Amino acid sequence: MKAVIFHAPGTISVEERPAPAIEAPGDAIVRVSLTAICGHDVLAYRGQRRREPGSIGHESVGTVSAVGEGVGRLAVGQRVVSPASVSCGGCFYCKQGLLTACERLRFFGHDLPGAQAELVRVPNADAGLEPLPADLEDEKAIFLADTLSGAYAGLQMADLKAGESVAVLGCGPTGLCAQLVARSMGAGQVFAIDRHAYRLAVAAKAGMVALDLDNADVAAAIAAATGGRGVDLAVEAVGSAAVLGQAAALVRPWGRLLSLGHGIEAEAGFPIGRLTARHVRLIPASFPPTKNYMAPLAKMLARGVIDPGPVASHVLPLMEAARGYELMANHADGALKVLLRPA
Ligand SMILES: [Zn+2]
Ligand SMILES: [Zn+2]
Repeated sequence: MKAVIFHAPGTISVEERPAPAIEAPGDAIVRVSLTAICGHDVLAYRGQRRREPGSIGHESVGTVSAVGEGVGRLAVGQRVVSPASVSCGGCFYCKQGLLTACERLRFFGHDLPGAQAELVRVPNADAGLEPLPADLEDEKAIFLADTLSGAYAGLQMADLKAGESVAVLGCGPTGLCAQLVARSMGAGQVFAIDRHAYRLAVAAKAGMVALDLDNADVAAAIAAATGGRGVDLAVEAVGSAAVLGQAAALVRPWGRLLSLGHGIEAEAGFPIGRLTARHVRLIPASFPPTKNYMAPLAKMLARGVIDPGPVASHVLPLMEAARGYELMANHADGALKVLLRPA
């Protein structure tokens, strides 16, 4: 089978690898019909996050092609989406539904072979794989794997209420998904903040108030629209302590600050006093248990309550994965989320 292989920053290829087989009773094999490149993968491609060479990817939609004898809930032929990681189901955290804090967590493309491949082996398949409604197409369902479900999990954790104002810093796939989710939850004004005109255009077209960080006084615009208070909820969707600090400056006293971005520096100057003095609650959600939110979100996608269509800029054959990485890493050709379709 073909799989996308990360060799070193800037070097990605598609290579032949042995097809995975059932190794444990709880395993399922999924024939992948659509996979995607995530910002997390792009960090490794750019050399901004260390990773070992090997198969990559953690977002996939497909059809179950084989199951181990311990699998009861899923049958061959079932269409499914897989979360980015596999949890044990029995540890202190799993028992509380905090699946991504699992003490025996395995992540596709790291501790498990990558999901940017024609076939993927999914351990604990009964608990991990989410069955898909028949009328939900791959191009929407793929967003359940991580990007949209992560944004949805974060906004649920942030307890967004109808009518509240939201500012999202970052209009990449995660930021755009957060904006779409905020809209679906009945948010008042949603401010979309970025410095790439093509990304702001996607946000504006989807009904957000687009603000260009380089050409607008963002703080003044938000103050003017919120009676001078600031937004009820500010969302960092970049993965940067500096951007988290910018978001902290836009939120009103007693508001909330949601951090969705991956890869925030372990040690970074963050204006914590801006939060403590103004009673702003920080909600960290860079790796939430997305599986818990997939079923309700799949219904919303099938009903068209959220349409992530504009967040996918390209659908390429899996064989052209290297071009997909290049597009996303360089923000080239209007790149947002790049989806990869195995032949
Ligand atoms: Zn991802
Ligand atoms: Zn566990």
